[in-house]
Amino acid sequence: MHRTGWIVVLFCLGVGFLMGGRQLGFLLGALLFASLLLHEAGHILTAAYFRVPVHECGIKLGGVYIRRGYALRRRDEILIAASGPMVNLLIVFPLLCVPRLGSQIAMCNAVIGLINLVPLPSSDGLHILRNLAPYTLCATSRLRSEPATESWCRNPLDPSRIKLDKP
Ligand SMILES: [Zn+2]
Repeated sequence: MHRTGWIVVLFCLGVGFLMGGRQLGFLLGALLFASLLLHEAGHILTAAYFRVPVHECGIKLGGVYIRRGYALRRRDEILIAASGPMVNLLIVFPLLCVPRLGSQIAMCNAVIGLINLVPLPSSDGLHILRNLAPYTLCATSRLRSEPATESWCRNPLDPSRIKLDKP
C-alpha cells in the first residue's frame, strides 16, 4: 500500500460513519472498502481469464488500482475494463435483500459502478470507449498529439504498454 492509501481507508471509514452512524459506521466503512477491492478483483479475474498479466495491485490516493498488460483483442480489453464496474453493479440487487446495511452498501456499489463507467480520464468508462471506437479517437488530432494515445494508435497490441486502472 502506498502511503497515501491510508487516505482511501480513512475516506471509506468517514463515509461509513456518515451513513451508518457510530453504531454501524465502522462496518459500513469496511464493507465500502471491500467493495473497492471487489471491483479490482473483477478486473484481475477477467484479466487472468484472458491471460493478461497483472503486475501490481495497490492502494493510493485516488483509490485501489491495478497495473496490468493489455489483452490482444479489443473485445477482451473491453471485458476486462467493464468487469470491475459490473461486479459492483451485479451485487446491488442481492445486497438490497440483506437487512439493515444492505441498502446502504448496495447504494455505495451502485455509485462505484456507475462513476467508473463515466468516461473520465483514467476511468474504466474511457478505456471501454477508446476500445469501442479506437479509430475515431485516433483520427482526432488532439488525442493523436498525446504520447500515450499516440503509441496506442500506432500499435494497439504493443504488449509493453501497461494500463493504470483506478476504480
Ligand atoms: Zn476499474
